[in-house]
This record gives sequence, structure tokens and C-alpha cells, in this order.
Amino acid sequence: MIINGFDELNTPKVQVEEPEEYFKKMDISPKQRKERVETSKELADVMLFLFALLAIEMQANKPNYPLVLRSFKQRFRDVVNRHSRVDDYVENYINEFTGGVFDTTRKYMEAAGVGMNGRTDAGWWTSTDRATAIGENEANIILNHEELLEAIEAGAVAKSWSNVGDNKVRNSHKEVTKEKIPLAEFFAVGKGIMLYPCDWDNNPDECFNCRCSAIYYDEKGNVVKVGQGDRSTKVNKAEQKVQLTENDYTDTIRYNLIAGQYKVTNAQIEDILQNELKEFDFPVKPVYSGQIKSAGKTIITRYRWGTVKEIKSIQIGRQYKDTREALIDTLLHEYLEADIALKSKSDPFFEELFNSTDEKIHKYINDYIKEYFDKKGWNYDLA
Ligand SMILES: [Zn+2]
Repeated sequence: MIINGFDELNTPKVQVEEPEEYFKKMDISPKQRKERVETSKELADVMLFLFALLAIEMQANKPNYPLVLRSFKQRFRDVVNRHSRVDDYVENYINEFTGGVFDTTRKYMEAAGVGMNGRTDAGWWTSTDRATAIGENEANIILNHEELLEAIEAGAVAKSWSNVGDNKVRNSHKEVTKEKIPLAEFFAVGKGIMLYPCDWDNNPDECFNCRCSAIYYDEKGNVVKVGQGDRSTKVNKAEQKVQLTENDYTDTIRYNLIAGQYKVTNAQIEDILQNELKEFDFPVKPVYSGQIKSAGKTIITRYRWGTVKEIKSIQIGRQYKDTREALIDTLLHEYLEADIALKSKSDPFFEELFNSTDEKIHKYINDYIKEYFDKKGWNYDLA
């Protein structure tokens, strides 16, 4: 899926525009636009560096390709880090993107071979146009993610989708434009869902050459400014807490931007609930959702005054490991999240724990799970 996604970039279907032109129509501030132009140019330079380094290495007796990939990745990461924080999601993205682009470029350069002039000309694959197109695309993917994090930190509660309004905008992106939805909800785009334009993790097919942007709103409906701050002062927060106010209650969602890669089925979940975890009485039936950005997510509703109302849902996402133990771990984790919330209504110990930090809650949960694995003689290393 990842490689196919990157390969789309490599099809010169559209005329490549200079960055100033490419970002011009986007519904963003001049400061945001300037940052995107700079980021895309720096990333394009990194691509040209890759083409040059590969050309040199191809002519060596023993090409050291791992070294080329490492240097490329390092430079790419340095640029990203100057314009956005590098959290686990971005780190993972950089690894997959640079690996995929490296493989494709090397493949086409090797196919083109070294010409009579001693150089390698792989046409589009080593062109400035390709470097520019990749830089532009990646700048939006990276910076839209950064702006989502900034919006969360600034207390945004809602968002809407904005497109550039020309004839290149996909119909699926026109359809979601102007729709205002709660921050933690997804836009239904094409065949999938997205948290924001260029949400590569959830819907890579809808990211390429997309110049749409998100507009974020606070509780009063005022636009939350993003892309204004000094990146060097940003704090890396991989896990964010989103508070959503809706009617008489607030949803507290464990907002984890890292998704695993292993899908599971409801049948596998059911099987574990009937066997390993049969002594646990889940308040709601856990169901698989490939769309959430964490291994599991429990949605707890609260009354306006703060006490827990109910467990709305327990969703199980893609797992980080392809083992039964990993799924047991996730299910138990979500069970305990729900259990702590429900017990907080009547038990002072759980009330204090529930209202403490994520770190304390997760320490309690992880200790509990480890102990339970030990007791049952299951291998925790596989979880
Ligand atoms: Zn778009």
C-alpha cells in the first residue's frame, strides 16, 4: 500500500508548478504559505541530493546503497525537523517514505544504466520536476499533520475542510468542503476517511497533489490560528488528549497518532473474549475498526460536571505485532481503561487514578497486564 502510494507521485501526469504557484491558491496565511514554499524547496534539494549520490554510487565497484539511503533519510529528516516536530508518526512516515522513494529511484536509475557520457539519465525519475513535485507534496503532508497537533494544543474543538477552488480539485474533496465537524471525527473522503487533508496514514490515495487545508475552530466558533509559531520551541507530544464538548457531556478520547499495521478480525476478538479473557465482563462489545489511529480506543462519555456517564464504545485498531498476545494485551488495556472510568464513580482510589495523568493510568494498566500475563504463564514479550 505504501509503495503504491509513493509510486503515484512518480507518474508525470500533471505539469509540475513552481512552489510559489503550487501553494498560491491554498486557503492558508502568508506565513503558512512561506513555510510551505521553503519546506518544499528544501525537500526538493534533498531529492536532487539522492539522485546525485545514487549516480555516483552506481558507478562504484561495490555500491554502498545502505549508506546512500542513510544519508538521504538523515537529510530528509533534518529538513522536516526544521519545520515540524518529529513525533512517532512523522518518524514512521519518514522511514517509509524515504525507503519507498529510494527503492523506486534506484530501480529506474539502474534500468537506465550509465550512458556514454558517464552519467545516468533516468528521465522523469531523476528530473528536477520530480524533485519539485515530491517536495511540494511532502510539505503539505508534513505541515498539515503539524498543524493538527497545534490545533489540538490551542484547544480547537471543531474543523472544516477547504479546497483551492480550481478545476484540479478532486470531487471527493469538494464534497467535504465547508462541512464543520468535531475535531476528533473523520471526514468521509472517497472510499475512506481522513482526519484532515493529506492524512496520509488513513487515506494515502487521497493525498497526492492535494492542496486542500483544514480550518480549526475553538468552542466559540472562532478560527484557531495554526502555523504561526516558532517550530524550534515546540514540545513533542506523541499522545494528545482531546476534549470535546457536546450537549451535556464531554468525550475523553485517548488520541494516539500511531497506528499499527496488523489488521485483526471480530472473530479473533470474540475468540479471545470467549477463552483467555472470559473472566472479564466488558461493558460494551469491543469491535474492530481499521480506521482508528491506535491499537485500541475506548470512548468514555462524561456528564458536564465531570463524572463518568457511560462507556460509549471500545474499538480495536490495527495492532503493532502480529501475535495473539498483542491482541490480548490491547483488549485487556481497553477493558482496564473502561473499568477505571466506571469504578471512578464510586471508588475513591479509582476516582483519583482516573483524574490523574495518562502516564499514571497507563502505568497502572501496564503493571496490571504484566502481572496477569505472569499469573497465566503467557509470554509478555510477544505482546
Ligand atoms: Zn484536496
